[in-house]
Amino acid sequence: MTSQTPNVPDSDQIRRAPKVLLHDHLDGGLRPGTIVELARAQGYDSLPETEPDKLGIWFREAADSGSLPRYLETFAHTCAVMQTRDALFRVAAECAEDLAEDGVVYAEIRYAPEQHLEGGLSLEEVVEAVNEGFREGERIARANGHRIRVGALLTAMRHAARALEIAELANSYRDQGVVGFDIAGAEAGFPPTRHLDAFEYLKRENNHFTIHAGEAFGLPSIWQALQWCGADRLGHGVRIIDDIEVAEDGSVSLGRLASYVRDKRIPLEMCPTSNLQTGAADSYAGHPIGLLRKLHFRITVNTDNRLMSGTSMSQEFERLTETFGYTLDDMQWFTVNAMKSAFIPFDERLAMISDVIKPGYAELKSEWLFRQTAVTSSSTVSGG
Ligand SMILES: [Zn+2]
Repeated sequence: MTSQTPNVPDSDQIRRAPKVLLHDHLDGGLRPGTIVELARAQGYDSLPETEPDKLGIWFREAADSGSLPRYLETFAHTCAVMQTRDALFRVAAECAEDLAEDGVVYAEIRYAPEQHLEGGLSLEEVVEAVNEGFREGERIARANGHRIRVGALLTAMRHAARALEIAELANSYRDQGVVGFDIAGAEAGFPPTRHLDAFEYLKRENNHFTIHAGEAFGLPSIWQALQWCGADRLGHGVRIIDDIEVAEDGSVSLGRLASYVRDKRIPLEMCPTSNLQTGAADSYAGHPIGLLRKLHFRITVNTDNRLMSGTSMSQEFERLTETFGYTLDDMQWFTVNAMKSAFIPFDERLAMISDVIKPGYAELKSEWLFRQTAVTSSSTVSGG
């Protein structure tokens, strides 16, 4: 008799389960082998390792140092090999392909066009190369029996001064593969209100944006992102936990900001493994996602940087399942949360939920019945 509890997924089921990814950086998800090949073709000789496996390990170790600025250093290498149309196209196509292979059915992938201009491309050429790459990746995935849809989020760097320009770029490509906008980069010293003009512009255009806030920096950053800038979602937002008190008897009280985030169903793009690497959380068990899920915040599960964290959507869910005993129902809850919070039109989100996500989970949830029936009948001696 199997000891598996109904609905606690095994790794194979986690991989096959439909998943939705809202927070993943294009320059944080390259295949190590692709970096090596692109570097060789482009004459980039600053890679710390030229053997793909070793390079992959190097990225994880560099990202493990515990500080966000150090973590961001690893992007110098990935961005260096993403300066041509062909490189961007390839990286985007492989990103869609890899996610589809991992069971992701919908993804919003973000990148900062301003970081890909060193080879002479214009901002528009960068966006077009990435969009074409995503379409190619979707096609390859389909040919391999997977279905995925990928939208792009254009990111502006918080230390730079091009946010309005990038917001305008996002707006001009909004019906051509770009679904929203974001700001990223070191949080401390660069509050989101620095880019207020970009957010106000997008609001006037009825467009969508998320803001990296409450990762390295606390509640003021989250408060600014929501109440000054009007963010639709929060990138990370883990520090919202600082506004929640748990008493010795286990009773919980929420401060005004935490209440607002929960009441307004503000989506939190949580990235557990990434948070452990940057020191925003100290263990999976200690990650705020455990309490926030119990309190019914609108939590979504994400990868952030698959290369630097050596992770995937399946792996994030495996860690959470091991740590918190999450079932397929929990996984479905996170996935539906993410789909509800996506930036594509409401009718398309709804169709993804009712026609792709729910049937996918229903099928997985039924599997244990058949597995158990087989075991029971083989161990039954006399029809009894
Ligand atoms: Zn991020």
